[in-house]
Amino acid sequence: MTRAGDLAQALAAVEQRLTTACAAAGRLREDVTLIAVTKTWPASDVVLLSELGLRAFAEARDQEAAAKARELAGRDLRWHFVGQLQTNKAASVAGYADVVQSVDRPRLVQALAVAALRAERSLDVLVQVRLDGHEGGGGGDGAAGRGGAAPAAVPALAELVASQPALRLAGVMAVAPRGVEPEAAFARLARVAARLRAAHPDATVVSAGMSGDLEAAVAQGATWVRVGAALLGSRRSPLR
Ligand SMILES: *Cc1c(COP(=O)(O)O)cnc(C)c1O
Repeated sequence: MTRAGDLAQALAAVEQRLTTACAAAGRLREDVTLIAVTKTWPASDVVLLSELGLRAFAEARDQEAAAKARELAGRDLRWHFVGQLQTNKAASVAGYADVVQSVDRPRLVQALAVAALRAERSLDVLVQVRLDGHEGGGGGDGAAGRGGAAPAAVPALAELVASQPALRLAGVMAVAPRGVEPEAAFARLARVAARLRAAHPDATVVSAGMSGDLEAAVAQGATWVRVGAALLGSRRSPLR
């Protein structure tokens, strides 16, 4: 089959899963946005998926994301940055991203705010939450290495985002940690999200769920799911 045919079939299967998950949760399919995670896959796949109706694409590495966004400029796509982001890459990301989902520390907020202002762009921001069960800040457990602010640190970080003219606080994002039931992790995220909405009623986004756990995320109220492998296949080695 052609790549276009493979992608159409994979998208139909993911759509079916989302429809089933929404029905099981008593939710409307249109209340969950599907974001295609295209990291390691070429810009031509983004084009094919956009021809199948997708508009939102996520990337995890600045260099790769910048190249794809440049190549596909003018196509009315929305680029999401979901990877761990070094402060010194903030200016680059602010130049092409519409949404940064992986904001987890004050210095990164400041760097994105300055860069977005300079670029005369507005960025939607999600606070990434760490769901490994440790409530305290800091902590020595770097093994997961996936970033995220401790739940207790979310309110202050959210305030800082909300105070920046070039940033819009849109909600929260999380990756289910290894070794934890996704449903329990996402239930925890739902509580963090509810607390955030009490202070910031417009911050309604809950970005949770990937290829392996999107049903659990939808059951726990995710409004965005980020799907890579189930759409595009097993990840290739990173593009250079
Ligand atoms: C790669 C990635 C995804 C997609 O994961 P799949 O298992 O391929 O669906 C989602 N979120 C983040 C933050 C990622 O880095």
